[in-house]
Amino acid sequence: MTTIFGHVINGMESADGPRFDSVDPWTRTPWAEVALGGADEAGRAVKAARRAFDEGRWPRMGHAERGALLHRFADLIEEHTDELALADSRDMGKPVVAARAIDAPRTVWNIRFFADHARLATSEAYPMDSGHHAYTRYEPAGVVAAIAPWNFPMMLESWKFAPALAWGNTVVLKPAEHSPASATVMARLALEAGIPPGVLNVVHGYGPASVGEALTTDPRVDRITFTGESGTGRAITAAAARALTPVSLELGGKGANLVFADADLDTAVEWSIKAIFTNAGQVCLAGSRIYIERAIAEEFTARFVAAAEALIVGDPRDPSTQVGPLASETHWRKVCGYLDDPGGKVLTGGRGDGWVVRPTVVVDVPADAPLQREEVFGPVVTLTLFDTEAEAVGLANDSPYGLNAMVFTENLSRAHRVSAALRAGTVWTNCFFVRDLRAPFGGVGDSGWGREGGTFSREFFTEPKAVIMAVQESP
Ligand code: NAD
Repeated sequence: MTTIFGHVINGMESADGPRFDSVDPWTRTPWAEVALGGADEAGRAVKAARRAFDEGRWPRMGHAERGALLHRFADLIEEHTDELALADSRDMGKPVVAARAIDAPRTVWNIRFFADHARLATSEAYPMDSGHHAYTRYEPAGVVAAIAPWNFPMMLESWKFAPALAWGNTVVLKPAEHSPASATVMARLALEAGIPPGVLNVVHGYGPASVGEALTTDPRVDRITFTGESGTGRAITAAAARALTPVSLELGGKGANLVFADADLDTAVEWSIKAIFTNAGQVCLAGSRIYIERAIAEEFTARFVAAAEALIVGDPRDPSTQVGPLASETHWRKVCGYLDDPGGKVLTGGRGDGWVVRPTVVVDVPADAPLQREEVFGPVVTLTLFDTEAEAVGLANDSPYGLNAMVFTENLSRAHRVSAALRAGTVWTNCFFVRDLRAPFGGVGDSGWGREGGTFSREFFTEPKAVIMAVQESP
């Protein structure tokens, strides 16, 4: 029996029109059929979201009632962890164990966190000397278009819709065409949780001249939150400019990872391996440029290469697999293009069977080579040596991207000094991937516009309103 994932618009799932196949990147065969939308479906979803916002209860509910529904939604996602994890794994090839351990719990946490954050938030009051006082109301912005990538499907989709919903907005979610399934499952669960029809809509399709473009040019949309490639971010910003729709952009990265001679090498190797080979390197935050202080270069390199070679590459459904195939044939070809001409010496790795790239380590790559400057978005890392702290910071900052960086050192002053000097939205010291959802998340340069997380998400998904009152003097 064919597995089908439909659009979910105004509480109704439908896959009546044209469909496309979702191809499992491990078997390289279709595993599901997905409704293929276009401008019509996008328009219908925006209309439903508009009506649910303008006339429905969702934006008018108290935070406690809305929060309770969101927690119920999170409960259901928790109960459906296996189904959701398998859907993401089959769609884009990530090990199902990782989807269960990382993506699903993070999805649940995104929803619970923003439900509570909105319910517990305070707003500012401004006592004024002039016999007035002023305060801020954080009112929902309206209809939010959320456009997501395929690398952490449910997790990154929930990172967008959870704060939007918690602050009383309605949402049209467009998942990436390579990872559509979990979005439909989540929309079904939202309805089951009692979230009203039209509040969370899902439309499947492509970007340019399709659902994505229709959403970004629709004047009925009040906010666009996008995660994806920097080039797509530019196209979306240009499209959104026509209706002056505010855009939040979480874009590509080329994370620098600085390993100083005074680092704890066990910690540095363990996190550096995770930072580049988790999710087969298909991570915006990947530590794809490692800079090593010369004094420890030999030992670090030997241990890093041994750890890379020990990773188990293979079938994403096998519980022992740590690195699966790349998400699609197109993407695999793109990553292989870098391996054809790496610009340096490959110590280990290379193409595997099917759409697999084995964990690949390259040394002696010049600073201006594509492998050092472009986002590969695969399990490929460069190792480069440095002699001084200033040189390390200079190399790290020599990038159009600025999403994140890592520092490994046991010297506290150096940790603070280098963290301050790095041009990045997030710096991890002696760790990687740890998040506090209250902290700002986003990038500088080609890595994005704006920040999300905690109050930063509130700023984007609300219209802060100033209310100023005259206070009468006592008669
Ligand atoms: P992508 O830009 O190709 O696609 C992302 C989404 O945008 C998809 O849903 C796609 O259909 C849609 N889209 C494409 N063109 C569009 C257009 N013209 N108008 C509207 N929508 C359009 O990105 P991808 O390949 O799915 O994801 C990988 C990229 O995402 C990498 O660059 C990665 O670094 C980035 N990423 C960033 C973060 C972050 O938080 N900064 C997180 C994850 C991924």
